[in-house]
Amino acid sequence: MPAVVLGLEHHLFEEALEIVKEDSGYRNDVEMTEADWRGIVTQYKGIVEVELGRAFPQDVSEQLWDAIRAVFDSWDSDRAKVYRRLNDIPGDWGTAVNVQAMVFGNMGVTSATGVAFTRDPATGEKAYYGEWLVNAQGEDVVAGIRTPQYLTLAARKRAGAKPLSMEEAMPASYGELAAVFELLEKHYSDMQDIEFTVERGKLWMLQTRSGKRTAKAALKMAVDMVEEGLIDETTAIRRVDPMALDQLLHPTLDPKAPRDFLGRGLPASPGAASGTIVLDADTAEKRAELGEAVILVRVETSPEDIHGMHAAKGILTARGGMTSHAAVVARGMGRPCVSGASGLSIDMKTRTLRMGTRELKEGDLITLDGATGEIMAGMVSTVQPELAGDFATLMEWADRYRCMKVRANAETPADCRMAREFGAEGIGLCRTEHMFFEAGRISSVRQMILAQDEAGRRATLEKLLPEQRADFAAIFTVMAGLPVTIRLLDPPLHEFLPNRDAEFAALSDTIGIGVDTLKRRADELHEMNPMLGHRGCRLGITYPEIYEMQARAIFEAACDVAEESGDAPVPEVMIPLVATKKELAILKKLVDETAAKVFAEKCRTLDYLVGTMIELPRAALMAGEIAEEAKFFSFGTNDLTQTTLGVSRDDAARFLNPYVEKGIFLRDPFVSLDIEGVGQLVELAVQRGRATRADIKLGICGEHGGDPASITFCEKIGLDYVSPSPFRVPIARLAAAQAAL
Ligand code: PEP
Ligand code: MG
Repeated sequence: MPAVVLGLEHHLFEEALEIVKEDSGYRNDVEMTEADWRGIVTQYKGIVEVELGRAFPQDVSEQLWDAIRAVFDSWDSDRAKVYRRLNDIPGDWGTAVNVQAMVFGNMGVTSATGVAFTRDPATGEKAYYGEWLVNAQGEDVVAGIRTPQYLTLAARKRAGAKPLSMEEAMPASYGELAAVFELLEKHYSDMQDIEFTVERGKLWMLQTRSGKRTAKAALKMAVDMVEEGLIDETTAIRRVDPMALDQLLHPTLDPKAPRDFLGRGLPASPGAASGTIVLDADTAEKRAELGEAVILVRVETSPEDIHGMHAAKGILTARGGMTSHAAVVARGMGRPCVSGASGLSIDMKTRTLRMGTRELKEGDLITLDGATGEIMAGMVSTVQPELAGDFATLMEWADRYRCMKVRANAETPADCRMAREFGAEGIGLCRTEHMFFEAGRISSVRQMILAQDEAGRRATLEKLLPEQRADFAAIFTVMAGLPVTIRLLDPPLHEFLPNRDAEFAALSDTIGIGVDTLKRRADELHEMNPMLGHRGCRLGITYPEIYEMQARAIFEAACDVAEESGDAPVPEVMIPLVATKKELAILKKLVDETAAKVFAEKCRTLDYLVGTMIELPRAALMAGEIAEEAKFFSFGTNDLTQTTLGVSRDDAARFLNPYVEKGIFLRDPFVSLDIEGVGQLVELAVQRGRATRADIKLGICGEHGGDPASITFCEKIGLDYVSPSPFRVPIARLAAAQAAL
């Protein structure tokens, strides 16, 4: 206490006490005699006088006020600041101080102290859980000097421990305590974390608060308490932190398994995975095909690595932040990912990697924990998630109360199936470029891009058409009866270009054009700032044949599926990166004309929508005009954040952390929507879009569609749906319900 209040080093006092105990051969504080304590008090007063140059205050009220002031000051300690940042607690809340009389648990064998939870905070089981010590103060229980004992007989028996539980040793006090547990739990309708002391046989309650709990326990308690009639369904929905569900949806590391810690990166995509290190996507795919569990380790990933990422059990990168390519794609696929591991260096020549002082080679085993960013050598066993039972019950309640629909961002039939299993009510974003990177297709795509003229491009697009059609047909089949938004090609052509000599040589062999010609063409297409370059609808404007092929593939697939299953899909064709009404008008006409041609050929018509992404500030500002051409808007808040803040989503990791630490941003704006700034543009576009077209469909497909705070904002401004990656669907269902309550 004097150390904290007077701002002195704790160890000064601890050392004095240790010397007395050592000299007298004591192990525990309880062995100290009255005379020993008197000696210590004198020594402590001396320490204060030496350190502060003034005597320890003897006036009780001065002592009390100093103590109160110390509690208020603690709000601004570094530790408190870090805690607030980690738990999203605003700094302007401040703290309160309780003043209460002291009771003593160290007054002999009829005294005791302890800490208890009214239910098991790890599993949620309805059983008292806690620890206690005879003849001790609270500090002794938490400091680990003496081993605390079990509170209940059942827990002691289960652990096979000898020292008597409180239930056996102090049955009267225990009975009274148990009655208080029941009273407090009923009063607060929540599991309580309680501190108590028994002073010479009399029970005193020191403190009670709602107890911290694991995600699993939160879920079980919420569902159990509804069944017990303690809370209603809406309270249960509010009780569970949606983000905590992430822990439950992925395999997690077995907490009991030993770990060999190698290093750390950003927790980019949750889940845990072990596998052998592979250093490139092709090797990952080959080894995975042979049944090997592999972890893809790259400096950073690009769309060219998609097949390797899909084949891998987990992804580790040295560079890139929480919205880097690796992070976004990994979350979408539900692969654990640790990104931006700055201590990691990779030597592709020797095919080795180094983390700190450790060196590993391709083929060695590593384990990633995508929820914490930890990287471990060797294999660590994992525990599989449980999606039935309490989880399913809570989800059912959430669905009953939410207003917004929840879709998912997915582009493969497997991911769509997973999205449906997680409860997605449609696809909000199918990024077609991922299909262009499928194994075997990339060389046709490159051939198309590097073609000299339209005729050359059309020739290769002919080859891609049946493949795209099959992709869409498979997705429509999996998503039967549900809406599917398909985005036409978006990324800069730059990203598809070969960049290694070996790739140019292979392409030259396949298509019979000289390496020099290919390289010259690639140079022409190279961009300094590709994210603001030849991408999105600009591709459709300059190379309309690409969008025409994609639109044809969509409508042919939709007609074929309608023919075969009788369940006609309603495709929503989405044009990316629109800034002006004119761009959309030109491309909508192209899509409509293509649809008309296909319907004439197939002798049937189908309903479909054409809409756009709002991901440029100009598009948001001009939403009223753009809505004349668009049946729906989908807010691409990844790009909208990038373009509004002028912050590159691929490079931001380098400076965003210090920005968050300095409080410039409360949270990473690529993770949680900058509601004050970017949010204004979204809200404005909603109002202007609806003013033009009252029934315009409005959704969000940026990463923010899976972030609870952003989802609350989406509900407030009246969006119709949110669309996160498949593994975030349950989080979004719960967050949308909380937002609606
Ligand atoms: C976006 O920009 O928010 C979006 C969803 O598109 P992408 O992430 O593919 O750029
Ligand atoms: Mg975008």
